[in-house]
Amino acid sequence: MSRKVDWAKYVSDAQRISTQIQAVEISSNDQPNERKSDKDDDAPEEFIPAEASLLSKIIRKGLIESKNDIEVQRKDPKSPLYSVKSFEALNLNPNLLKGVYEMGFNAPSKIQETALPTLLADPPQNLIAQSQSGTGKTAAFVLAMLSRVDINKKHPQVLYLSPTYELAIQTGEVAAHLAKFCPEIEMKFAVRGEEVPRNTKLTEHIIIGMPGKVLDWAFKFRVFDLKKIDVFVLDEADVMIATQDHQDQCMKIHKNLSPSCQMMFFSATYDQEVMDFAEHIVKNPITIRLKREKEILDNIAQYYVRCQTHQDKYNALTNIYGTVGVGQAIIFCHTRKTASWLSEKMSKDGHAVAVLSGDLTVEQRINVLDRFRQGKEKVLITTNVLSRGIDVEQVTIVVNFDLPVDLKGKADCETYLHHIGRTGRFGKKGIAINLVDSDHAMEICKAIENHFDKKIRYLNSEDSKEIEKI
Ligand code: ADP
Repeated sequence: MSRKVDWAKYVSDAQRISTQIQAVEISSNDQPNERKSDKDDDAPEEFIPAEASLLSKIIRKGLIESKNDIEVQRKDPKSPLYSVKSFEALNLNPNLLKGVYEMGFNAPSKIQETALPTLLADPPQNLIAQSQSGTGKTAAFVLAMLSRVDINKKHPQVLYLSPTYELAIQTGEVAAHLAKFCPEIEMKFAVRGEEVPRNTKLTEHIIIGMPGKVLDWAFKFRVFDLKKIDVFVLDEADVMIATQDHQDQCMKIHKNLSPSCQMMFFSATYDQEVMDFAEHIVKNPITIRLKREKEILDNIAQYYVRCQTHQDKYNALTNIYGTVGVGQAIIFCHTRKTASWLSEKMSKDGHAVAVLSGDLTVEQRINVLDRFRQGKEKVLITTNVLSRGIDVEQVTIVVNFDLPVDLKGKADCETYLHHIGRTGRFGKKGIAINLVDSDHAMEICKAIENHFDKKIRYLNSEDSKEIEKI
């Protein structure tokens, strides 16, 4: 007899945990991290991909749709490629389709149009999908995971790996919602706090977990057999490989899967390291990508301003903001020290300013962002913690108080794109201002200009007529 799973419990569990997320540090291992409050204020703020990614998931509401076309690559040109414009065309289990509508999804998102038929195809097809956060990847692979379950087989068949505890719980929540009308599908979280007695065998169809726990369960406790997994999902692979332990654990899990197991690989970015990892894990894949670079920069007017000192930069900033000052602004600083210096000065001058930096808890950051979204503060000053992923629609001007550089002091073009990428979204025009205070900074500015092949124009911050023109 099939054991009925209590979905209501999963949903409430997931909701409880996702509320807790807001009060704990995002944890990429089995224990919650401790806050690093003793960090040097003068040091460049560290960018933690897992944090940025989760924050963006929590704060974002709804789908980000892209006008861009999907770019598809196939190693084997004979493998079929389909695309659908409706969920009905997918021949989903009717109860799963009911779940899709229950979620309020009317039509597949851009990435889902191609990803879903590929993921559901027979024979199973391996997929690498890369698109920014918020484009519908999770909903796509969760639907595929649920569709692939054979409820008559009482053992884990689908294995999903997340780089963080919180993301695992969130994905479980999406799965529980989509499967609301398929109570016969059973699922098990393999995350900290979940225990299984040795010498038992899991009977659930789907495991949603983190690499460490999954390895323990597979090899130490032997509660399920990796060889019987038909579908392997690696989520946020770019975040996953940022941690060497995770990368090694994923490799070990991967090595023990059956060669016929379907591999699904998802990532928000696609630099060489991610691609190398993807190609190692996913044999003969269809790769689909949603490009965004061009779209963003097309709508952004980029400028640079020459300054000498911090005070100069401040004057330029307030001049420009004072003149352009409709809408909201985000200002990026390299260090917490600069961020707090700037916020103090701007507050004294009567601006409503919020500061977001790495010394805040996740809950505090969410509060700051929520207030900013609601327009309670017009200016958000931030360090690198917010360098990617979070979209605030009303932002018209982004200022790089310091130009983004990598650890070697070279131009960090990807971070630059993520900084200014938050203006000009949804087809609106945006302005990006770079404050250049040295010859080295000027070189970085030029390097960024060359990289994207888009002009960054000189702006005289004392010429209010010129500023008005922008
Ligand atoms: P990603 O995994 O790429 O970050 P998600 O799958 O989490 O994206 O989707 C982002 C948001 O859009 C979520 O709130 C999700 O519920 C919603 N969403 C996903 N697919 C659709 C769709 N086809 N129609 C409407 N909303 C969708």
